[in-house]
Amino acid sequence: MEEKKEQKTILIVDDDCINRMLLKKIFGADYAILEARDGLDALRVLRSMQPITAVILDLQMPELDGFGVLEQMQRDPALSTIPVIIVTGSDDSETQNRALAYGAVDVITKPFDPVTIQLRIHRLIALLRASKLEEENKWLKELAHLSKTDAKTGLWNKQTFCQETQKLLTADPGGSYALVRWDIDNFKVFNDTYGTSAGDALLLKIGEQCQLYAKDHPALRTHGHYDADHFVGLWNKDAFAPEQLHRDILAILRSAFPDYTFSVHFGMYAFDAQTLDVGIMCDRALLALRSVKNAYDEHYAWYCAAMRTEVLEEQSIVSAMKDALVKGQFIPYFQPQYNYATGKLIGAEALVRWNHPEKGLIFPDKFIPLFEKNGFIYELDRSIWEQVCVYLKKWKDEGVVLPSVSVNISRRDLYHPGLVDGFRALIEKYALDPSMLHLEITESAYVDSPDLVLNMVAQLQSTGFKVEMDDFGSGYSSLNTLKDVHVDLLKLDMAFVAPNANHSRSGSILTSVVGMAHAIRLPVIAEGVETRQQADYLKSIGCLYMQGYYFAKPMPASDFRSLLENHPVSTKQDARFYPGIDHSVDFLDATTQSTLLFNSFVGGAGILEYRGGNAAALRLNDKYYEVLGITAAEYVDKQYHLLDTIDSKYRKVFIDMLETAIRTGEEADCEAYTIPLREDAEPVCVRCQVRFLAEKVDSYIFYLSIENITERKNSQRQSSMYANIIRNFPMGLAVYEL
Ligand code: C2E
Ligand code: CA
Ligand code: CA
Repeated sequence: MEEKKEQKTILIVDDDCINRMLLKKIFGADYAILEARDGLDALRVLRSMQPITAVILDLQMPELDGFGVLEQMQRDPALSTIPVIIVTGSDDSETQNRALAYGAVDVITKPFDPVTIQLRIHRLIALLRASKLEEENKWLKELAHLSKTDAKTGLWNKQTFCQETQKLLTADPGGSYALVRWDIDNFKVFNDTYGTSAGDALLLKIGEQCQLYAKDHPALRTHGHYDADHFVGLWNKDAFAPEQLHRDILAILRSAFPDYTFSVHFGMYAFDAQTLDVGIMCDRALLALRSVKNAYDEHYAWYCAAMRTEVLEEQSIVSAMKDALVKGQFIPYFQPQYNYATGKLIGAEALVRWNHPEKGLIFPDKFIPLFEKNGFIYELDRSIWEQVCVYLKKWKDEGVVLPSVSVNISRRDLYHPGLVDGFRALIEKYALDPSMLHLEITESAYVDSPDLVLNMVAQLQSTGFKVEMDDFGSGYSSLNTLKDVHVDLLKLDMAFVAPNANHSRSGSILTSVVGMAHAIRLPVIAEGVETRQQADYLKSIGCLYMQGYYFAKPMPASDFRSLLENHPVSTKQDARFYPGIDHSVDFLDATTQSTLLFNSFVGGAGILEYRGGNAAALRLNDKYYEVLGITAAEYVDKQYHLLDTIDSKYRKVFIDMLETAIRTGEEADCEAYTIPLREDAEPVCVRCQVRFLAEKVDSYIFYLSIENITERKNSQRQSSMYANIIRNFPMGLAVYEL
């Protein structure tokens, strides 16, 4: 309705009332007519906000002429789109062109034929209207396109992708397809490095490249931008090749931003007949994507039913957690820790278990990561800490000799303002010595927010707690971090350094970490020790504290209590410090084989490093200690200063032997007496044999074997003494017994 009314209003502007009447007569039947006597009058009418379809304008007028009106109209956005038809007495083309240049759409000269002018203006208005409609249409289309695509990439947005994919699948209900969802690894890092606008530009470029790619790959049936940095595509399954797609996506990213090394992961959901909503399929592809998200060597995964079960399990865990806490279903288990050299129990780590009434014992990897995400972890941890204190107090009151117990602090707990006070309150409530409680903070927490952690560590230590750095070696921080973080104990996880994937590397990681820790006087405990070989190896490099299945699995409190009663306990964990050691020779590898070989060697043997006049035993086998009649624990201080253990008269002989072996590349040997190796012991005479193994930047590595020849030596001495006696005896026979 309104459009029609608008269509019908014409403003006639002419100072000549005859002309106005004439025109009114011609157009009055089809249009509503407004009139103006001069230019100013015309502008007044125009600005009165009445909808005007067209203006018929005279050029020569008082006050403001037609050009002036055109000029004003052009300047006013509300008026500039109204078509103006000039009716003029002047027929010179200059005036006419000028009028057109001022924005008029047509010029009609007087005197005019009424029919002609009527037809011309009708037609003009119709034409203008049509073109206006077309323009509007175009704009509407554009709008529709914009809402179907996503402004960041120019690709179909989530909704359009789902709709269009659904259309396609409806048309081919039995078709086999693969729905793929991919995202850029650490897109956040890209944004942080180059700025969000570069991130936006990247997404746009990826969008362009994807369009081109889709044109070249007809098997990619639909594709779009799902959200954030997630992209989706539907492929014909038979033409889909994940390896190739991985390469193609990387190529797309490279062409979008050549200066950055991208990595991507994707998840895929395959089906032979559609049974699920497209959105749900995208969710499943996401589950598959998440299953490999952090994998280093796998870039994609197919969805499988187990992934969904996992999600459902997660949901059931979350809905049950609060109730479970109240009902006391979260309990600490205790995994003992030992000094491998003395065999004494030195402590335990408290590890949470969910004692589920139907599902049985649930392990923390099933729920801890979830609780860390949803924030429940603090409540859970506090409950475990308190339960540990309750046990310690109870056992102490019952007269059990107690070692310290470590509890885990989740990185999320560190953000809790009440953490330190909470621990203080616990200790007071149960009248415990704070050093009884060791607090484990995972290494990655130090990396994420070093300042916060350093501050926390300092506060906890000033209250008397011992702080341990957990999971050291998991790959986040460098050895240098150790110098900045003043923790009381370093916890090495064998899973990160143990010999399997790369034997020689893990061996040398272990030795350098232990060496470094000794250098800065930081005690080390190894956890996840599963075999005797690992334990022996650790001992041979001077790491004596151990925890792992080789010794005992985490156990219920009652079992741990009886262990405490039946096993020697060391209540004082004296730190042992060694100088840094070098490595990389075959014997230093923690490979099971070489450790076995090393330990099954019939005699005492070790790896010796000679550097700057100092000789240090980097590794020693069990026989070595036996030969010297000493324990590993007693020798541990001495093994890094071997020369100090040799009687001063024999040191030169020992060094000469090393120098000879270096010079000749052959085996060399010597005999030397040690100093008394413990208070009540006699000096031992040892036959040493060395084989030069390797030359390092500033040191030499030897294989050293020893033999105890004290008895032989002593009897030799004795016999030469008797020989002397006999020689000097004036006459007769002497009998002696050895
Ligand atoms: P973690 O702190 O590194 O604990 C050591 C894990 O290694 C424990 O797993 C332990 O049972 C396991 N383990 C011990 N010896 C061996 C071995 O010889 N070989 C192998 N392969 N594993 C061994 P668990 O109890 O399943 O705990 C897993 C993780 O859950 C813990 O890793 C810790 O990060 C977390 N966690 C456990 N209890 C708590 C807790 O009370 N609070 C918090 N925040 N986290 C906890
Ligand atoms: Ca731990
Ligand atoms: Ca650990």
